[in-house]
Amino acid sequence: MTNLPTGIVGDDTERPANIVPQVARWPSAHRIRKAEFVGDPHFPPVANGLDYLVSVVDLLERDSGGSPARELKYAVLHLAAGAEVLLKARLLIEHWSLVFTHPGQATREALEDGSLSSCSPDETRQRLKNIVGITFTGREEQALKDLARSRNALQHWGLTGEQARASVVASTTARVLNFLVAFVEDHLLPWLQAPELSEAREEMRHVRDGLAFIEEYVRERMKDLAPRLGPVRRSTVQCPLCRQWALVARGYEDAQDVDDLDIDDMFNVECLFCTERLTPREAAHEYAGVILGHFGNEEAFDLTPEVHTCPQCQHALLIQGAATAAAPDRPVDFCFACATAPVASRS
Ligand SMILES: [Zn+2]
Ligand SMILES: [Zn+2]
Repeated sequence: MTNLPTGIVGDDTERPANIVPQVARWPSAHRIRKAEFVGDPHFPPVANGLDYLVSVVDLLERDSGGSPARELKYAVLHLAAGAEVLLKARLLIEHWSLVFTHPGQATREALEDGSLSSCSPDETRQRLKNIVGITFTGREEQALKDLARSRNALQHWGLTGEQARASVVASTTARVLNFLVAFVEDHLLPWLQAPELSEAREEMRHVRDGLAFIEEYVRERMKDLAPRLGPVRRSTVQCPLCRQWALVARGYEDAQDVDDLDIDDMFNVECLFCTERLTPREAAHEYAGVILGHFGNEEAFDLTPEVHTCPQCQHALLIQGAATAAAPDRPVDFCFACATAPVASRS
């Protein structure tokens, strides 16, 4: 088991006792300078990061003899820790001070003894972009944000079902691992030398196999859902929680008397993949925020340019620029309240 400097991963990161690195070990700081770094035979962060990823795929692949909830929880925590360590490993290569919250106040002592205050995941991405010159696609940024969301949602997991958690975790993990595998290949492995390089390659094979397994799980579940999703393609959009095209707006199909309905009491928007159920208003908010990237405040939601009053049902829950599973590439005006046949978006 490789060891992790305590300050590199956020201090609130939980790890099960048997996986917690017991002793923080770090090469003496002078060896982390770029010039000396290339030949350094004991560079730990890449091995540490990959170790977390191996743990993630093992936890998700494991034939759940123990508590699946516990395994999912640690899969999310380890994925977050692995992403953080691997992204910061590239910052360390650039310059060791860059992993500090305030690089100007960085000291080698703090790095060595792990007492540093380390930069946040957002700052890490920012520095990789601005200083190292690494570009992240929108999808990659979103995958990392979703991971942060899943991690923050852990404390609310008592409220959701087992199937829901497993689906969201698998879906998010597949996307984050896809990104991390490419990141390690492109931005970290070129800096490693034998024997670390061959060890890292071995770990990467393990992670890639695990990734294939997780993606297969997601595909199989979507295939199982196809008979239910097929007939409702025109009222199905991408789910803001799990990102699958499985969020179905039911409209008022079961309602007896439409005039008496309070739509905020109706949880008639449901994701068949992750089993999340939302009211039309919640669904419209989440969709506009997460999928379309519009994070307006709740009060001003009705005034944002993407939101319109639906000509069919008069609720201001018609989202412009949405896309349904029937035509994922064609933006439409979609009403989360009545889910009426969408019309092409004006733009
Ligand atoms: Zn979902
Ligand atoms: Zn409507």
